[in-house]
Amino acid sequence: MNRLINKIRDIPDFPKPGILFKDITPLVKDPATLKLAVHQLMEPFLGSRITAIAGMEARGFIFGSLVAWEMGLPFIPLRKPGKLPYDVQSVSYDLEYGSAALEAHIDAFEADDKVLLIDDLLATGGTARASCELIEKLGAEIVACAFVVELDFLNGREKLENYRVHSLLHF
Ligand code: 5GP
Repeated sequence: MNRLINKIRDIPDFPKPGILFKDITPLVKDPATLKLAVHQLMEPFLGSRITAIAGMEARGFIFGSLVAWEMGLPFIPLRKPGKLPYDVQSVSYDLEYGSAALEAHIDAFEADDKVLLIDDLLATGGTARASCELIEKLGAEIVACAFVVELDFLNGREKLENYRVHSLLHF
């Protein structure tokens, strides 16, 4: 676990004053630590009924696609608006100031898909909650949400109370 913590860099006042940003780029730069993180993300779900991995733009793509590769499962990208070329389903959610949205192709999931949702970090939970809504709107089932980092003091887990949550590091 220390190996992972040592590769998360604190960046004060990013993206705005007063925010301490957890930078995961040192972790993804180190192959052994990245491999450890990917294996720890998927470890509770080995031999489970999961049939697809979904990840949110952009850092969820890094960890999500590596987990999908390792588990031999499809990877489904959840993207910011206007990026996907085919017909999309969309979900919008509130940010501190304004709103954001995520989209997925209408045929991204099969009707009986059991999904593991992956992102780098759980903060307020808005992004992950919207992602779960999007996946469910498309007819698939969420089995669990997995994160490399969870910021406990922001209580994001409360927004995911209906789902199983697996986090590797807690701050
Ligand atoms: P939430 O919606 O839970 O408030 O924010 C989580 C989303 O914002 C995730 O997609 C995550 O990538 C990004 N995010 C928010 N804060 C941080 C941070 O300190 N470090 C990193 N790496 N991502 C963050």
